[in-house]
Formats: sequence, structure tokens, C-alpha cells
Amino acid sequence: MADASARPANGLRLVMLGPPGSGKGTQAEILAERLGIPAISTGEMLRRAVDSGSALGQRVESIMASGALVDDETMAEVVRERLSRDDASDGYLLDGYPRTLEQADTLAGILEDSSSALDAVIFVDAPEDELVRRALARQRADDTEQVVRHRQEVYREKTAPLIEYYEGLGLLRRVDGDRSIEEVNVGIREALGVSG
Ligand code: ADP
Repeated sequence: MADASARPANGLRLVMLGPPGSGKGTQAEILAERLGIPAISTGEMLRRAVDSGSALGQRVESIMASGALVDDETMAEVVRERLSRDDASDGYLLDGYPRTLEQADTLAGILEDSSSALDAVIFVDAPEDELVRRALARQRADDTEQVVRHRQEVYREKTAPLIEYYEGLGLLRRVDGDRSIEEVNVGIREALGVSG
């Protein structure tokens, strides 16, 4: 059994949203650490599944390599299971989920089932040129420029509609990601109203 006293009494439930190359993964790690909540990256979970050669990993390997999205149903299973674990019972920072409106619906259902709600959605943005430059600079060994550009297209088409969706729910906090890691981090904390 985990020691409940080691966790904050009121952990935040947050989503990190942003285009590939926005630096949201880096910011998610820093912020989650500061807030004492787990950073849950679906991209990282899937990459681990691929590395381990599990059934899930085998199913998603070629989809990920192409820059396309894994289907919503598979992601719903992955996320439902992850959020049911003890360390996510009192707050978490989701990085890379939801990525489609259907996934946002699924998340809303998961939250409703546990009588909880999102506290905020942090949207880290940067100009397209800078995004492509960064994404190419840190591309994984098997990423071609074509795959990197495809990820941007998929983002614009499938994920960008979430900005308006969460804005409509009053949850969106926009942060300029075209600054240093530390400056973006300060911007996020200001947007959330968390001190320190
Ligand atoms: P990025 O390189 O944009 O930071 P991630 O590391 O978050 O991307 O994810 C890498 C890949 O994993 C995605 O391109 C996609 O194929 C898959 N993936 C991750 N999260 C999701 C999701 N929520 N829905 C569908 N596919 C996902």
C-alpha cells in the first residue's frame, strides 16, 4: 500500500497540450516533479511497449513509426489502466493524451467514473518554423523529415481542435513556448497560479 501522507492532499489533474516540438514533454516532467504528481506520457508508454516487444508494442510499432496516431480504442485501454493505478489516484499530468476529440470524450468519461475533473489544460505553443526546426533537431533515429512533417499535419488535423474544445470548457491556459525551458516553465506556473 502506498503511503498516502507522502502525496499532496489535493493533487491537480492536468493535461499538457501542444504541437510536436513544443517542448511539452520536457515541461511536463519539470512541472509534475514540482507538483508531486506523476507525469504520464502516452508516447513514452507506447515506446516502452514497443521496446519490450509486448502484444501492444507489436501492434503499434509501425503506426508510431509513420507518425500516425494509434487508434482511440487502444489508447482508451492504455490510459484507463494507467489512471486506475494507485499513484494517479490524487492528481497527474497527462502528456500526449488526449490527442483527438474522441479521446477527450473518453477522458471525460474516465473522470466522471471517478467523480473527478480536470483542473486545467496547459497549451504550449510555438511558431510552426520553430516547431519543425526543433522536431528535426531531436528526431529519433528512424524519423525521416517526412515523418516529422506528417506528425505536424496529424496534430493540426486531429489534435488542434482540442484547443477550442477545452477553451469552451474554460480549462485552457495558453503559454508561449518560444522561450527558454526555464522561462516557459515560469509561464506555466504563472498560468496555473501555483507559486514557487
Ligand atoms: P511527440 O513526438 O509529438 O512528442 P509522443 O512521444 O507523444 O509524440 O508520441 C509518439 C507517437 O505515439 C505518436 O506519434 C503516436 O503514434 C503515438 N501516440 C502517443 N500518444 C497517442 C495518443 N494519445 N493517441 C494516439 N497515438 C498516440
